[in-house]
Amino acid sequence: MDLDLDERTLAFRDEARTWLAANVPAQPLKSFDTAEGFAQHRVWESRLADARWSVVSWPREFGGRDASLLEWVLFEEEYYAAGAPLRVNQNGIFMLAPTLFSHGTEEQQRRILPKMARSEEVWAQAWSEPEAGSDIAALRSTATRCDGGWRVSGQKTWSSRATFADRAFGLFRSDPDSVRHKGLTYLMVDLRSEGVTVRPIPQLDGEPGFAEIFFDDVFVPDEDVIGSPGEGWRVAMTTANNERGLSLRSPGRFLAAADRLVSLWHDAGRPAHTADRVADAWIGARAYQLYTLGTVTRLSDGAELGPESSVNKLFWSHLDVALHETALDILGPDAELQGSWSDGWLFSLAGPIYGGTDQIQRSIVAERLLGLPKGAR
Ligand SMILES: Cc1cc2nc3c(=O)[nH]c(=O)nc-3n(C[C@H](O)[C@H](O)[C@H](O)COP(=O)(O)OP(=O)(O)OC[C@H]3O[C@@H](n4cnc5c(N)ncnc54)[C@H](O)[C@@H]3O)c2cc1C
Repeated sequence: MDLDLDERTLAFRDEARTWLAANVPAQPLKSFDTAEGFAQHRVWESRLADARWSVVSWPREFGGRDASLLEWVLFEEEYYAAGAPLRVNQNGIFMLAPTLFSHGTEEQQRRILPKMARSEEVWAQAWSEPEAGSDIAALRSTATRCDGGWRVSGQKTWSSRATFADRAFGLFRSDPDSVRHKGLTYLMVDLRSEGVTVRPIPQLDGEPGFAEIFFDDVFVPDEDVIGSPGEGWRVAMTTANNERGLSLRSPGRFLAAADRLVSLWHDAGRPAHTADRVADAWIGARAYQLYTLGTVTRLSDGAELGPESSVNKLFWSHLDVALHETALDILGPDAELQGSWSDGWLFSLAGPIYGGTDQIQRSIVAERLLGLPKGAR
């Protein structure tokens, strides 16, 4: 990739920078794990959408700007550098949308994407079950054929933002005789449907950032199946690869955090015992930026995301932990008073778990990239 940006790309970046400087809320919004904060984030995302900044890389007809992936990476850098709010609809925009672009019908794209772009519909991911987290193919929630659609029953858990979300996407066993990765169907479910119960789970900070979702004979119309019935695993891999490999955690997030860390270090009188780790975090964020630009180049040349997404996920999740631990070391006992760094540290600890744990990512790297023998399961 040529790292010298052409005039069109520079103009795009400048336009984004100018708009964000004028529009990012001066006061941070409340956490989107609270009812009030969730509502505030919806309003923010509709403002982003009004100015066509909510989904820049999507086609214009769905609310985007037809921006290239490179432009999207640059927009994300500007977004985080401006201190803009985290995206309440991140599971929809960065995980479900790429899945719909790859596997959805035109009708689904037209019906779902514009509302997602404006966060009129906020999406939750309903994959994990009490006995199926790392081993998602062991899931037991079912979808049974009925007139015009499916009847869904079972339980999902750890579903981020499901407490306040409108809809969820998930995998269900549609062939009762099937095992493991076969016989699964990828469905989109309205969380306000009859038979759905959402039970909030408080996180470490006490806010209901997760929820369990119970489905009791819930009707899901055929139009809300993504891909073919029984082929859900293949569709789910597109979602997982975007979660781990490109869109959920863009370099901008870590570049901005690394820059904040460098400022913190200077303000704290440049404590020598943390200097190497500050430099490592700064270099790590830039290495991730360059690696992502490599991924963008490959995708622009027609490649698809694959198991190398696991390398990516291991890298960003560990970078985030190290960066926040360094900040806490610099702050010392004051860390407790610096809410944003200690909150960020708590959340960073979840990075090696959500989206598939470290151990699972390492097994994928070992087996699918390095060709090592399969471990015992
Ligand atoms: C902040 C956060 C947000 C989340 N958001 C969502 C969400 O929105 N939607 C959703 O569906 N889920 C979500 N999850 C759940 C997440 O995907 C699971 O926690 C994760 O996949 C692990 O599953 P588990 O918790 O059931 O742990 P388990 O699968 O029970 O694993 C327990 C431990 O055993 C290890 N282990 C398990 N199997 C193997 C193996 N084969 N080889 C080696 N080690 C193994 C794991 O690595 C882990 O250390 C979220 C989790 C967190 C922390």
